[in-house]
Amino acid sequence: MTRRIKALLSLLLCTAALSGCSANQPKSSLSFQAMDTFMKLDVYGGSADEIKDEILRLDKLLSVTDPQSDIYTLNQSKSAEVDDVTAELARRSLELCRATDGALDVTVLPVVEEWGFISGEYKIPSAQTLNSLLGSIDYTKVSVTGNTITLPSDAKIDFGATAKGFAADRAVELLKSSGATGAILNLGGTVAAYGQKPGSDGWRVGIADPENTAAYIGYITCRDKIIATSGGYERCFEGEDGKTYCHIIDPKTGLPADNGLLSVTVISDSGTLSDALSTALFVMGAEKAAEYAKSCGDFDFVMLTADGRAIASAGAAQSFTPAQGYDIRLETVS
Ligand code: AMP
Ligand code: MG
Repeated sequence: MTRRIKALLSLLLCTAALSGCSANQPKSSLSFQAMDTFMKLDVYGGSADEIKDEILRLDKLLSVTDPQSDIYTLNQSKSAEVDDVTAELARRSLELCRATDGALDVTVLPVVEEWGFISGEYKIPSAQTLNSLLGSIDYTKVSVTGNTITLPSDAKIDFGATAKGFAADRAVELLKSSGATGAILNLGGTVAAYGQKPGSDGWRVGIADPENTAAYIGYITCRDKIIATSGGYERCFEGEDGKTYCHIIDPKTGLPADNGLLSVTVISDSGTLSDALSTALFVMGAEKAAEYAKSCGDFDFVMLTADGRAIASAGAAQSFTPAQGYDIRLETVS
């Protein structure tokens, strides 16, 4: 099954799981494709149209493959005047690169391309190629002055790890100003649970089963949170050596993260933070990620490991309900 079909199945299932609400609220629903994934917006007491338009606008600005985009232009010319939102996302993403000590690194694109994760023509790069590309990975060399972003001559930038979360933040701003009463916005692996779910205390957001992504291991019940999941299963390939290689790269080695984590879900008030940290914690691995969470404390998380463990913050554990048929025992760390 292709990744897109899996994503669609997973999205439809999620929607089915979340749509048990019926109160007399007008609902505006839209499904569409953007940012290389399927998206579904359900807005109560308001319209989803403006949110869709804003997501499509961001997609056009941030695409690494569209020659009209801010990011494509920047990666070609190494210095470019960009839209206000692109500059804002760049500043916010760079802060999070610093905060995670480079586990998130927006300059990892040349290595991501070399593995074939942009073109879909997967290959295992030679150690020599990776070594030479590693020299171009350094987010500290990116500068943002006003709306001008400048890169070193060998660098390329990509906001694939933060763009959906940032889009979720923009969507929540639109929901607030529109007076909508509630919304569940599924932007691929990033879900915004906004306001009041009609007839219920909170929204239920599923955490995918990494072994069967059309199913959920359980649900987080929440409101006014943005939940992002990074999983090795989202985009990966099997090499001729029989090993599976995933699309999340450790910027220090240029190799796909391979530290026993299957997925990381982060829950916070900010989509950009949740999205950035789900990627960064996936790179760090369970032990370092738990230490990191202790030192920050402004987010909750659930990490699923290859050896069958589910490690969660105390806050996430409180709001977690296992799905039927899943005997999940969360190990809490706080
Ligand atoms: P996500 O799905 O949010 O975890 O983001 C993963 C995407 O971000 C990948 O498809 C790459 O395009 C890019 N990426 C991979 N590794 C990193 C990293 N360590 N830091 C920043 N971006 C990354
Ligand atoms: Mg991310």
